[in-house]
Amino acid sequence: MEGAALRDLLRREAEILGFAAFGVAPVPAELRADYFRRWIAGGNHGDMAWLARDPDRRADPTRVLPEARSIVVLGANSWQPQPERGYRVATYALGGDYHDLLLRRLKRLCAVMRDHGGAQRPYVDTGPVLEKPVAAAAGLGWQGKNTLLIHRRHGTWLLLGVILTTLELPPDKPEPDRCGSCTRCQDACPTNAFPAPYTLDARRCLAYLTIEHKGPIPEEFREPLGDRVFGCDDCLTACPWNRWAVATREARFAARPLPPLRETLAWSEEDFARTFAGTPIKRLGLARWLRNALTVLGNTGGAADLAAVRAHLGHPDPMVAEHAAWAERRLRDRAVV
Ligand code: SF4
Ligand code: SF4
Repeated sequence: MEGAALRDLLRREAEILGFAAFGVAPVPAELRADYFRRWIAGGNHGDMAWLARDPDRRADPTRVLPEARSIVVLGANSWQPQPERGYRVATYALGGDYHDLLLRRLKRLCAVMRDHGGAQRPYVDTGPVLEKPVAAAAGLGWQGKNTLLIHRRHGTWLLLGVILTTLELPPDKPEPDRCGSCTRCQDACPTNAFPAPYTLDARRCLAYLTIEHKGPIPEEFREPLGDRVFGCDDCLTACPWNRWAVATREARFAARPLPPLRETLAWSEEDFARTFAGTPIKRLGLARWLRNALTVLGNTGGAADLAAVRAHLGHPDPMVAEHAAWAERRLRDRAVV
């Protein structure tokens, strides 16, 4: 089997595997590579050094798989409502980690492709591929003014996986940009992290500052951080293309229970590791969790939180101790004590 018949077979297999979206981009594809190089050159990636490593390789799939002829792109729906618990965690991190799950499913699709004579390289997030422009080139949607992939039915909530393949598959038609005059994502951003539409300055982004950034959160961003302890979804939820999004049926993504934030301040390393085993939050580590939790409590906490905050004033990690001092000051300023 080859051509359109093979593509249709793969589309059906992807659906059976639980993917909500499927598309094929040609190689070479239009990947906005110049834009990516300029973005890196401007330092917008903060200290996510891996993004800056060999940008040419990321922009050219044949540097990874020289005989690549097509890129298959898969999207898994991640949307679910945020649980009510007084603090927020990015939607993608509410449940189990999606990387292994999606990669396992991509590999099952690769096996079908291998049976039809292809050589494949599957990637979820970590690969040397510009996933969002590739997904746009494969007709899954368009890269919106918030720089995310926007899908007409699943909005901003698709988690992406890509497979480079030597199979020559008929490409899907790219979608036009349907942002129009909308500016909701830019208006929703609490830190003005978009210097221009379609351009994100990661150094100002709360998702970056709470997840990737290693050091203290710069003071100017602590108050805007509000109640977000891990990541930020504001420029995702603001998008009107989410109006048809439905909750994911993926059991692995189901939100895990978490205790009140104050209680997490008493966690040992083991408590932290046990609570977040198998989730994207585990990688953060306890010290940065405490940094984020103290910032949130400084913004939202009450008198009942003061003792737990004060207990960290002498924390051996200076970053945690300084964030505790900031949180205590904020609680005092708000006269909760
Ligand atoms: S994730 Fe939050 S802070 Fe980052 S750009 Fe979007 S709205 Fe702004
Ligand atoms: S909120 Fe509006 S401008 Fe932003 S990505 Fe969605 S449609 Fe585009």
